[in-house]
Amino acid sequence: MKRKKLTLTERMRRIRKTDTKPEMIVRRALHAIGYRYRLHDKRLPGHPDIVLPRHRRVIFVHGCFWHRHNCPDGRKLPRSKPEYWGPKLERNRKRDVRHIAELREHGRDVLVLWECEINRSTELAETLDRFLRQRPRSRDAVQHARNV
Ligand SMILES: [Zn+2]
Repeated sequence: MKRKKLTLTERMRRIRKTDTKPEMIVRRALHAIGYRYRLHDKRLPGHPDIVLPRHRRVIFVHGCFWHRHNCPDGRKLPRSKPEYWGPKLERNRKRDVRHIAELREHGRDVLVLWECEINRSTELAETLDRFLRQRPRSRDAVQHARNV
């Protein structure tokens, strides 16, 4: 199927939309402070959005609504079918908790960044830098990483 050709305005709008996505903001910030990363590693529990293989660290960029952040957006329920959405979103939240625990068992340090914080924060680069410089959780994990 042939895709409709977009006008320049439409294309710019589309680019802008993609670029302002929280995940893009985080990726740009990481790039700016000089870290290399991989995206959406399917081999790891929960398929983390951003993976820093050399550092054995992973980052999730979570939408507040879908992942039940403890903020106004995360506590919202759609007005229609709340009996469906409530349990569904609660399952998402529990799945996240499980994935983070599994990642830690695999020797990964995990950072969760919330959409609302990314949009508000001018300190993102500092948060990232702090997370990436902190001492690794497990020395064995680092040793293992060096040997791979
Ligand atoms: Zn939030």
